[in-house]
Amino acid sequence: MTAGVVIIGAGQAGANAAMALRRQGHAGPIVLVGDEAHAPYERPPLSKEALLQPDQAKLALYTPEQFAEQRIALKLGVRATAIDSQASTVTLANGEVLVYDKLLLAIGAQPRRLPMLDALGDRAHALRTVEDAQRIKAQAQVGKRAILVGAGVIGLELASSLTDLGLQVDVVDPARRAMLRNAPELIGRFLQDTHEARDVRFHFGTGVRAAERSGDQVSLTLENGTQLQGDLLVYGIGVSVDDTLAKAAGLRTEQGAIVVDEHCRTSQPHIYAAGDAVLQIDADGQRRRIESWENANLQATAAVCGMLGQSLLAYPVPWFWTDQCGYNVQFAGDMAAPQWLLRGEPGRAPFVAFGLDDGAIVGAVTVNAGKDMRPAKELIARRARVDQATLCDPGIALRQLAKAS
Ligand code: FAD
Ligand code: ADP
Repeated sequence: MTAGVVIIGAGQAGANAAMALRRQGHAGPIVLVGDEAHAPYERPPLSKEALLQPDQAKLALYTPEQFAEQRIALKLGVRATAIDSQASTVTLANGEVLVYDKLLLAIGAQPRRLPMLDALGDRAHALRTVEDAQRIKAQAQVGKRAILVGAGVIGLELASSLTDLGLQVDVVDPARRAMLRNAPELIGRFLQDTHEARDVRFHFGTGVRAAERSGDQVSLTLENGTQLQGDLLVYGIGVSVDDTLAKAAGLRTEQGAIVVDEHCRTSQPHIYAAGDAVLQIDADGQRRRIESWENANLQATAAVCGMLGQSLLAYPVPWFWTDQCGYNVQFAGDMAAPQWLLRGEPGRAPFVAFGLDDGAIVGAVTVNAGKDMRPAKELIARRARVDQATLCDPGIALRQLAKAS
């Protein structure tokens, strides 16, 4: 057994860390262990193209040839079940034991479960994997009714895709509006209006009291007494991390996530973690718990820099996107900013919303205005202060403002 880097979790962070190791000069063995049967793939298309045009959806992160060229050994369809940090070994479910010099945990997260909905059987779904998307797609036929529980990113993207496929959609969420966790109010309202114009019915401020199955039908009784019938139900109510492996290995965890520093180092020497499974606490105490495609990629690179003793570039302003109803919506910076200003009109894309804190620009959302994202991020990174009338004037190019401020 030759030691090298072992990566547990062959998803967004794991696969990109493996590639980054080679790119940044690691010459020794790399083993990528994944419990899914597939080679590493991207999840964002699962709620979008994989439902709409499954034949054209591009999911694979890298080709088998790329892994072979980079001498990255894939061990797929097998779970890592134990880490011995004293002996520097990882045990797999098939009994195999891998020795590591450096270990990366890139184990992602799982959808939070609601046992009441799981009890509905094969008409109730959560969405995380290719198989989940395939099961949903198989039941999403024109004229059917879908109930979505959770009006977060996953719920809204599904509402968009399922209405595109010709289904009638109801969305249930105990929150008072859509995307409460990670979008400002005006964007949540804009998205709600957009979905309602496509006949999506929202039921906010009420949860699910009871769920029943009768034949192929599911029915929900909401806390406010509303009855909903559906041919399928999908719920997206956030994620949780399975921290069993990490805890058993003695790693510090908090809020169910693996705690790492800015180099993605855990509390144990030579063990790193990245992606959805991680709570990052910087030296200055700044805490980052981000579940996004970009964050998985950035932390993969940070972990590799940590492993190879290379210096780390500063983390950029956090960014993520969603695609719904023909709108590409991109988010950067602080979505909880106390004041929001609009550049353009909601409902008349393209438009941009800016979040301000005491006059400083701290957040931005672009709607079908992706080209404005780069200058918006520059303004956020500098906490720029721009005259509000100027900022809100779509006639003045943001690039100019970013240069001038
Ligand atoms: P994952 O990609 O989940 O990879 C973790 C892998 O580790 C999984 O394959 C898991 O099975 C495996 N694993 C776990 N435990 C073990 C073990 N013990 N042994 C072996 N393998 C193990 N983000 C955006 O920014 N924009 C979007 O539009 C967007 N859309 C999304 C749509 C959907 C439907 C989903 C589910 C996510 C979306 N995301 C989006 C989020 C983004 O995909 C995730 O943040 C990203 O995949 C996280 O990468 P990760 O490597 O941490 O986890
Ligand atoms: P996801 O990535 O799964 O979409 P988000 O955090 O973006 O996660 O959104 C989850 C949504 O689910 C939130 O709007 C939250 O109010 C909602 N939610 C949480 N718990 C429940 C529940 N028990 N029933 C219905 N909705 C829920």
